[in-house]
Amino acid sequence: MRYYLQPPNPSQEIVYIPYWRFKGAVFSCQNIKINHKILDTSFIAANLPFLPSSLGIRPQALKLKIVSPEAEGKFIRIQTPVKKAFEFMEKQYEKHNPLKQRAIMHKAFIGETLSMIYAPVFIKERVYDAILNRPIGRPLKNAEIESLSYISRPDWQVKFISTLCPDCGWDIEGEKDSLIILCKHCNTAWKASLTGLKKIDFSIIKGVENNIVYLPFWRIMVDSNEHDISTFGDFARKVNLPMIIKKDWETQPLYFWVPGFKIQPSIFLNTCKRMTLFQPKVDTNTTVPNAFAYPVTLPSTEAMESIKVQFANLAVVKKKIFPLLPFINFAASNILLVYYPFTKKGSELIQRSINISINKNALQFGRVL
Ligand SMILES: [Zn+2]
Repeated sequence: MRYYLQPPNPSQEIVYIPYWRFKGAVFSCQNIKINHKILDTSFIAANLPFLPSSLGIRPQALKLKIVSPEAEGKFIRIQTPVKKAFEFMEKQYEKHNPLKQRAIMHKAFIGETLSMIYAPVFIKERVYDAILNRPIGRPLKNAEIESLSYISRPDWQVKFISTLCPDCGWDIEGEKDSLIILCKHCNTAWKASLTGLKKIDFSIIKGVENNIVYLPFWRIMVDSNEHDISTFGDFARKVNLPMIIKKDWETQPLYFWVPGFKIQPSIFLNTCKRMTLFQPKVDTNTTVPNAFAYPVTLPSTEAMESIKVQFANLAVVKKKIFPLLPFINFAASNILLVYYPFTKKGSELIQRSINISINKNALQFGRVL
């Protein structure tokens, strides 16, 4: 997505400087702890050494507007590849990480989004910040001003995908930010892809109470390169779960349950832990309910990237499991989207049988993560 910061009342011709913005949760398994934080950084996307390399806290503090073809001004060409921006952001993270890098057994960025933010300036003998109306950086040489490279404006329309169900033609409604939309008419689930809507497998665990909200989860069946983990029973032994190993666990596949929605890292880890330890039973019900189905905001690929962190988080004896992290690998052999019923109670969504409670404000916060 492309955004811009709007200058208050531009009296000069505005030039927009491109910055990559990276926002997402980063988890690192260090010593015997899982650290997490939400990273929100930006990095200049053009070779303009006389300008600040980052936007600081501006993207959080100021209102961002979506760039439309009508936006006035000139736009500087993007010259920095995404890869370089990522490297910068990794360095930023490491700089703020108090522990030594070698103590990191595993690190994962989960649910990150990358966007482009255009910051307004005007150019005279030097560059002026068009929001604060004051000069930034040193005076420019003529050659520097002449070498500025602008883009010819492409078609920057915001594209909306068709929301007619490909199977039955029904007009499907969904939350704007949801990666998956459900057709109530023919009970199907659809994911937007480059080639249009793609049907995906899903299941709905029917709630019995009133006031139900369905939260989406990715149930991921995993295979591991550790030869001694192939069933849930093996897993329970490996991570020393403080539970008696049930007989049917010995034949039950290992399923990780990962929230299909973005939320603060600590709640994300805890929800995954409780769901995975509970190993909910899933049936083949696909009757889309009338109750609200919460939008899917975390793609299954990102959920998959969290498996190693979840594995580390579930380990009771972290000293034993953490050294394995650089060598252990997990691959998804099956992924199913499961809507699980939660009951609204005051400001909480509660799942009594699994003993989970998620605050509505935390969910709301997750939607802008
Ligand atoms: Zn349909």
